Amino acid sequence: MSDLSRPVGPKIIAIANQKGGVGKTTTTINLGAALAEQGLKVLVVDLDPQGNASTGLGVDPDDRVYTTYELLLDEVDLKDVIQITATSNLSLIPATVDLSSADIELISNEKRSFLLHDALRQPAIDAFEYDFILIDCPPSLNLLTVNAMVAAHSILVPLQSEFFALEGLSQLMLTIREVRQTANPNLRIEGVVLTMYDARNNLSQQVEADARANLGELVFASVIPRNVRVSEAPSFAQPVLAYDTTSKGARAYRALALELLKKNAKLAA
Ligand code: ADP
Ligand code: MG
Repeated sequence: MSDLSRPVGPKIIAIANQKGGVGKTTTTINLGAALAEQGLKVLVVDLDPQGNASTGLGVDPDDRVYTTYELLLDEVDLKDVIQITATSNLSLIPATVDLSSADIELISNEKRSFLLHDALRQPAIDAFEYDFILIDCPPSLNLLTVNAMVAAHSILVPLQSEFFALEGLSQLMLTIREVRQTANPNLRIEGVVLTMYDARNNLSQQVEADARANLGELVFASVIPRNVRVSEAPSFAQPVLAYDTTSKGARAYRALALELLKKNAKLAA
């Protein structure tokens, strides 16, 4: 891999949107797989108690001995919580429903917003030589999502191409601003990616036009189409890139990965 696409140290990107069902997990898995396909080393951190990213990457609940929950509580070494997956170059820190109690349990911990930051930015992470760490956030702006925003260099926002898509963004932007003011002044917005796009649907086109008019360059040129192969892949415990490598969905996530790499090369220059 050329230096062009290799960030210095792992670049940590949180995939966030407080709306459920907009394509966060799908984007985490498939962008991760597309970056891995380029020869980059990727770690996916499942930060959603639903554990959909873990399931989608083929790690059964029974095999999730240590999870993000123990990582946050600093009860486990990185090497014991990171699992390899069937996708080469792509590892996973899995999640289980245990994580759902973290929000309440951690409330009295004075470092509660910095737990993931401290875990992922510890010097021991360097030994794994990750290029990218992608954090799959839960569908809310809770303490877990704040942990992701404090740990991350940037936020990538999947935006479902449907009515009211843009409305939730202002709340998300407020939270990002708050995190910048308090804990992570360098937090950037990596970009907004339109998901489940249907080019034949006027509404999709309208959402895209609105997003591009309002958010300009923040919106990725690559758009993820609605594609049944994308939605089938998790039940085969595979990224769509493996499940149907020439599908429209797989090709769209490859294009998104290349666009992300180009953007980052420009930033590093
Ligand atoms: P989130 O993590 O934001 O809750 P998901 O990634 O789980 O959202 O996606 C919600 C649902 O939409 C899932 O059933 C997923 O398979 C489906 N889905 C996501 N992206 C696509 C797509 N491009 N084409 C078809 N179905 C999709
Ligand atoms: Mg999800």
